[in-house]
Amino acid sequence: MPHDESSLLELLVQEKKGKQKNERFLQDFKTLADVLVQELVKFDLKTKFPGMADSIHGEESTKFTNTLGDTVRVEIQDTPEETQNLLRQVLDENDTAARILSKAIHIQTAVKDAGLFADQLDHDLIVDDLGVWIDPIDSTGQYIQGDIGQEEAGLVTEGLQCVSVLIGVYSKSTGLPIIGVINQPFACLNDDGVWTGSAVWGVSIADLNLNSLALESSSTSVPPQPDSDISAKQTILISSIESQNIQDILAKNYNLRHISGAGNKLLGLSLGKAAGYVLTQNTIFKWDCCGPHAILRSLGGGIVAFTDFERFSVSEEIDVCLLPQIMYNRPDVEGAVGAQKWCNHGGIVAYTSPTFLKELK
Ligand SMILES: [Mg+2]
Repeated sequence: MPHDESSLLELLVQEKKGKQKNERFLQDFKTLADVLVQELVKFDLKTKFPGMADSIHGEESTKFTNTLGDTVRVEIQDTPEETQNLLRQVLDENDTAARILSKAIHIQTAVKDAGLFADQLDHDLIVDDLGVWIDPIDSTGQYIQGDIGQEEAGLVTEGLQCVSVLIGVYSKSTGLPIIGVINQPFACLNDDGVWTGSAVWGVSIADLNLNSLALESSSTSVPPQPDSDISAKQTILISSIESQNIQDILAKNYNLRHISGAGNKLLGLSLGKAAGYVLTQNTIFKWDCCGPHAILRSLGGGIVAFTDFERFSVSEEIDVCLLPQIMYNRPDVEGAVGAQKWCNHGGIVAYTSPTFLKELK
């Protein structure tokens, strides 16, 4: 809908130029988009797999309160008109914005790679055993700021490119991630000022490991070599809030890069731009990791708890590659409440290959 997109953009730019009322609108619009992305994924999954409704979890609450204090439970309705009416209530009666959003939500999209591996996916997945974690907009700060980032050595440090939509499917019985998607809605800005998105997916079920990266490399004459780049092999991604102590230790043997967004870091690993991601704080959640974790597993890597890694890395006898992967079917700590309930407690070590994890030890 190029026309609608441009009128929505105009509206946002218009609102941005304005005074207090317009600042409010922009803030509401962006926060609402966060909830809407999550609800849209839920709606699509529920439509396709009716039994899954109660097993789809996300970072956002469906209860949305705008800056004026009006609250609405955001749920995709059966018709575009009903959704439009619901959205208008929290968009300060802005009918144009509500209509364009609603239209975008109800548009039918076609999945590009659907059915591609149907013959290889002969594993019967039991829908009752599947749970889903959604992070509708990871790196919200960068999304709200809306700046255009610059790429350095294949990675973007800050800006809209760091924003990702993360969707992960896990097995309720094993707790392990099995299917993951990292969608980068603002991957590339063309000469006309229009953003195009990019997505990476991976499947890791028992012995079956598939991903879009292998698919891309098999369709081009020069396959990407994720681990061939010496500098990538020596690069660890960390958060800017990481403790100085850990940074000093890691910096002795590795090149450290601070880049925004958990999803963006895990995407960087998946694309072979770095070998690991180390985090020792309680700032990463199940919805951040589930999808990317499935992709890393499909590539032969994984994610372990930092606390486990730290505890066992001093022991010569223990093979760090046998450490348990982080789980998605239960809280790490008993009695935690709110978002902390689904925190990967004590941090994580994400890696692209067991070799890296051994070296890090
Ligand atoms: Mg997040």
